[in-house]
Amino acid sequence: MGKHILRNSDRNPPKILTSSKRVKHEMTVEITAIGGYDEIGKNMTVVSFGDEAIVIDLGLHVEKLMGERYNISRMSREELLSIEAIPDYRRLRKIPQKIVAVFIGHAHLDHVGAASKLSGLFKNVPFYMTPFTAGVFKGQLDDEEKYKGQKPDIRIVKPGAKVSAGKSFVVEFIGVSHSVPDSAVLAIHTPKGIFLYALDWKFDDRPGVGGKTDISRLAQLGEKGRVLGMAFDTTRIERSEPTGSEHYAMEKIEQAVGSLEGEGIIATTFASHIARLQTLINEGQKQKRKVILLGRSMEKYVGVAKELKLISLNRAEVWGRPKSIQAVLTKIKEDKDRYLLIVTGNQGEPGSVLDRMVEGTLPYKFSKMDNILFCSEAIPTEMNLKCRKDIERRLKTMGAGVHLGLHVSGHASGGDIERFIKLVKPKKLVPTHGGIEKLLRARKLAEGIGYKREDVHLLHDGESVKLG
Ligand SMILES: [Zn+2]
Repeated sequence: MGKHILRNSDRNPPKILTSSKRVKHEMTVEITAIGGYDEIGKNMTVVSFGDEAIVIDLGLHVEKLMGERYNISRMSREELLSIEAIPDYRRLRKIPQKIVAVFIGHAHLDHVGAASKLSGLFKNVPFYMTPFTAGVFKGQLDDEEKYKGQKPDIRIVKPGAKVSAGKSFVVEFIGVSHSVPDSAVLAIHTPKGIFLYALDWKFDDRPGVGGKTDISRLAQLGEKGRVLGMAFDTTRIERSEPTGSEHYAMEKIEQAVGSLEGEGIIATTFASHIARLQTLINEGQKQKRKVILLGRSMEKYVGVAKELKLISLNRAEVWGRPKSIQAVLTKIKEDKDRYLLIVTGNQGEPGSVLDRMVEGTLPYKFSKMDNILFCSEAIPTEMNLKCRKDIERRLKTMGAGVHLGLHVSGHASGGDIERFIKLVKPKKLVPTHGGIEKLLRARKLAEGIGYKREDVHLLHDGESVKLG
């Protein structure tokens, strides 16, 4: 999304309300979009009620960091804001209410990736999240150079738990299937009713690692008719067929790995997709290959998953440091068919292991012997689509076999979203995380199932809506 959609309200600096100023708070639930409503990335939302507010998600706009080789741990929040890689936290000045807690829904970087940069803005405030998300957040804090020494009050909750925040909010973590373990949507209970923050989920009966979407709890919320509004992601809204189960990806990977006997296999997927990594490890070992995971983010996410007993490596190795990666690749030069490598770079990201292998800055020579299994699809943004196409082209040019479609999305399709809305029965809808085309599709979908146009709110970053 470009600058053309910015409104005057964004251009004029907000009037800062000081604590000495008396503010009369209406007793309505108000949602303020801080980030993630004009783009896919940097999610951050504020929910206000009375004189209190909570913050949901502190996400990173990963795409903004892709073009160059940024070292995020050395960057300040001001630098990251200047390249639009984090939500515009200055918008918090528009929130006169006292922020009483921060909640993170799941461990993807567009939800938790800016947490180590922004957590210093919220002093003496608890941060609630599920175990895997907490592990990822703690890893970020350990890496931090600019804000070293900060110790946010992290409180770990399991999916299904409810926590109180301030005097007005009870926040319920409802477990959902997604492409990272321990994902939850958040039901924010207030005296006026519920706001459901339902970003990033799918229906999946056989998710592999991670729980199923708690359909019965969602239906219970709907039966009571107390859901004032719901925010939901529109990442894959243009698809009508239900998103398939992770089990289908497992079957496809099993077939592909089994059919490549005598050849080299390099698989790439999201480092946070623990279920997918487990499948690749299992299938590689079933074919008597040595499985080696390479890349810094592989090391980080797999480390957290191992600690929480969410992944079983058996004899698979994980290497993250550049020197170790060099050493591994030097060693396997001649015996490609005895290995299955799992590397970072599924989006073609510059600086990832796959990108460096292709560039030739790592000691690996591609040939007809090599098969690259893309166990992911490009995140639908201009930069990702371009990088991904580019790396596929370069691999094919070098003679390697490029295998696509070994993937099932972690996001709901339009049909799934319709089913979810009918289950939860929210009075108002706030589609997010997509850009204007996807948000308009969401409005069309909602109108098709009986919503009035005025009850579907297409917010821009910086805008608010009152839910009643
Ligand atoms: Zn996600």
